[in-house]
Amino acid sequence: MEELIHQAAEILAAKKNVVALTGAGISVESGIPPFRGKGGLWEKIDPMKYAHIDAFIKDPAEVWDVLIKSMKEVLDRARPNAAHKALFRLERAGILKTIITQNVDGLHQAAGSKDVIEFHGSFAVQRCMDCHATFETGSLKLDSLPPMCQCGGILRPDVVFFGELIPPNHLKRSQLLAAGCDAMLVIGTSATVEPAAYMPVIAKRSGAVVIEVNPEPTPLTRLADMALMGKAGKVMSLLAEEVEKLIRQW
Ligand code: NAD
Repeated sequence: MEELIHQAAEILAAKKNVVALTGAGISVESGIPPFRGKGGLWEKIDPMKYAHIDAFIKDPAEVWDVLIKSMKEVLDRARPNAAHKALFRLERAGILKTIITQNVDGLHQAAGSKDVIEFHGSFAVQRCMDCHATFETGSLKLDSLPPMCQCGGILRPDVVFFGELIPPNHLKRSQLLAAGCDAMLVIGTSATVEPAAYMPVIAKRSGAVVIEVNPEPTPLTRLADMALMGKAGKVMSLLAEEVEKLIRQW
């Protein structure tokens, strides 16, 4: 693994336009369970029953009770881990330009990263389904569910539910960045949720080096130029350290 990390660091340190695609796995070490894989939320609840927009419209109180309320409790406590911090270190070193994240937890920004595309929206914001007023999730009272706006509308997290479209500006910018980067780091994603999973394919086809970080193989592993198989916290810290060392030497 050490040799692989050194090779990956040499590739990254020589690049000026690196983009990262992150998924739920990068936040597992911050105490947030992923959807799929070991310990994933889907082992406990049926996604189509609770994370689909049709389910929310049919019974918002139930979806708030089973899924969103517990997500709020977990996300309220979560803090950036070594992997989020390592991406900030790569940005500070002038290597990493943008993070495209599928996560809604805000932990990249909390670690200091400046250019973060929240592909699936942000849990930090709640939006009224009627008047579109927005509220901070942190200040929300959950005495009765679903929480309501002063106008009488139901509040929903400003995230992309299954069955909803990715905000077109996020999709367009991510596609352009994927096509224009010279390396893409793909960290902690099962690479199964489209269209996010397609970004590394665009990068690869446009000539970028694709480096995957995940303890398990994914459908992307065969396409990737390198697979660093391990937990994001450890792998990314070592990688950032190695890149910083190389930059100091050059
Ligand atoms: P996923 O749940 O489908 O897959 C998680 C991946 O992370 C798996 O491949 C797993 O092997 C890997 N993983 C587990 N522990 C890891 C670790 N310590 N280090 C590195 N990788 C690890 O996640 P996804 O591909 O992001 O897709 C799920 C969707 O669910 C996303 O679109 C996202 O919006 C949403 N989601 C977000 C959060 C969050 O905001 N933190 C949490 C759960 C789900």
